[in-house]
Amino acid sequence: MTNIILLGPPGAGKGTQAKRLVDERGMVQLSTGDMLREARTSGTDMGRKVAAVMDAGHLVTDDIVVGLIEEKLTTGAAAGGYIFDGFPRTLKQADALGALMARIGQPLDAVIELRVDDEALKQRIVGRYTCGTCGAVYHDTNHPPKVSGTCDSCGGTTMKRRADDTEEALRTRMLAYYRDTSPLIGYYYAKGQLSTVDGLAEMDAVAVALAKVLDAK
Ligand code: AMP
Repeated sequence: MTNIILLGPPGAGKGTQAKRLVDERGMVQLSTGDMLREARTSGTDMGRKVAAVMDAGHLVTDDIVVGLIEEKLTTGAAAGGYIFDGFPRTLKQADALGALMARIGQPLDAVIELRVDDEALKQRIVGRYTCGTCGAVYHDTNHPPKVSGTCDSCGGTTMKRRADDTEEALRTRMLAYYRDTSPLIGYYYAKGQLSTVDGLAEMDAVAVALAKVLDAK
């Protein structure tokens, strides 16, 4: 089993690639963004508290996201390994993750940066949507489903767009990425754990590059 972090700005393809790894390798995706969106949908106190922060594109507090991850990690180890997607996003979260993994006796095997061109990101994000039933990711021009409005994977017909996939929220999310998250690249490089793949390549080529990193572990 292999535990990895997928690191990269919004729209780099972390969620898309994580879902493939879940299907192909039986890994478990831990996306703090998905967990927070779920908390909002189910109307928990925490979900209500973070809604406006998320919609504006700001980061929610370290305590909240570390708490969410801690809950998942203590409910049994994942057979195929964990994929941390969108977490950690600050140095404080990175330290907390290191401590949590040590506590459950699990290694962090690789940190994989999906490197992308900033201009291309806006294009990607502003056109993207997902299947409301299974979470498969689509894009207006780059990757529409074969039959418009119908999911290729599960046949679902409810498509969703994220409230923070607007140009304005994206600007804030990019700022948060470069200010708070990008220092993690240097941090994990210095620890000897960083690998980088070209996140702008075709989806299948990115998957192949990721597989190479994983298979080398
Ligand atoms: P994502 O789906 O990863 O793009 O996350 C969507 C939003 O959830 C972010 O813009 C933040 O508001 C919040 N969020 C998700 N993960 C984290 C995290 N690790 N730390 C702080 N905020 C987060």
